[in-house]
Amino acid sequence: MGVQMKALMKVARGKCNVQLKEVPAPEPAKGHVLIRVHVAAVCGTDVHIYYDRFPNSPPFVLGHEFSGVIESVCGDVESLRIGDRVVSANNPFACGTCAICLRGYPNLCSHKKAMGIHSDGCFAEYVSLPACLIHHIPDNVSFEDAALMEPLAVAVHSVWHRCGIEPDDFVVVFGPGAIGLLAAQVARAEGARDVLIVGTNRDEGIRFECARKLGIDTVNIEKDNLRERVMDLTGGEGPDVVVEASGSSSAIVSGMDLLRKNGRMAISGITGRPDVAIPWDQLVSKAVSLFFAYSSLNSDWQKALGFVSANKVKTSVLITHRFGIEQWKDSFGMLERLEAIRPVLVMQAAGDMPVGGRCN
Ligand SMILES: [Zn+2]
Ligand SMILES: [Zn+2]
Repeated sequence: MGVQMKALMKVARGKCNVQLKEVPAPEPAKGHVLIRVHVAAVCGTDVHIYYDRFPNSPPFVLGHEFSGVIESVCGDVESLRIGDRVVSANNPFACGTCAICLRGYPNLCSHKKAMGIHSDGCFAEYVSLPACLIHHIPDNVSFEDAALMEPLAVAVHSVWHRCGIEPDDFVVVFGPGAIGLLAAQVARAEGARDVLIVGTNRDEGIRFECARKLGIDTVNIEKDNLRERVMDLTGGEGPDVVVEASGSSSAIVSGMDLLRKNGRMAISGITGRPDVAIPWDQLVSKAVSLFFAYSSLNSDWQKALGFVSANKVKTSVLITHRFGIEQWKDSFGMLERLEAIRPVLVMQAAGDMPVGGRCN
């Protein structure tokens, strides 16, 4: 008889339809590893899936941000061993053979089924994933630090891989959620002269508090004059780089408006709208560069793990609340009310899996 595990599942399309279930633990296919989940973080995407505001493919186990330990390795996978502490990139089922995969961008493969969205994710005691996505956690990085490697890799992809930071860049980040707070740290780690993070009244609580803990200056556009502040700090020129991590159309427009001539914009925020009106002619006459970014690549994960190991980026500052998987509803609620940046589910395996267990 197979081992049973607890798993938080989106069981059907439509609002809610999320249930904590007792299901068989996955049996890894060849080339996959079975990972025992230690810490899993709850993200805004999970809440959007709960309300069915984000495209998803039920039934599946929710969750895509986690850290864990390898329980079994299936097939010849030389670099991974039982007991290794690991995290996983989120491009499962990318085919590796289509034109965009061959160009080195499996994050954009049409066959990809992101975990916790279109395939089984990590809000469970075990998750099975392809070995090619797995990265080792450095010894000096905790399971909690590592649980936020996915959002950090997304921030790294946008700021480092796509846009790039040059020494002495002045950077303005819109949106002090997890991605924004991590992107601001990436910009600083890459040598930015100064980083400002921009939000609204609703960010005055835990999000701005976290930014200040990290030594990042905050601007509330409902109270302060952002333009005056930025022009003061940049000799009237405007920021070299704007990072858009808010998904707000007004933030997108004000970021484009602030950007200096020849400036760069790193864009990862999704608006949930079919279109956004942008100041086209102004962007042309300023000759700015826009860098859109989606998901992340293995190289971003290596960079992200290096940043945390070198203490240049602090991820666990974003974790303020811990729950058992039974309290998943409380964790989703806190995130929705912006009382937490990244609540985490601390997973506990109910029973021991047979080490080196079955393969499919
Ligand atoms: Zn996420
Ligand atoms: Zn492909």
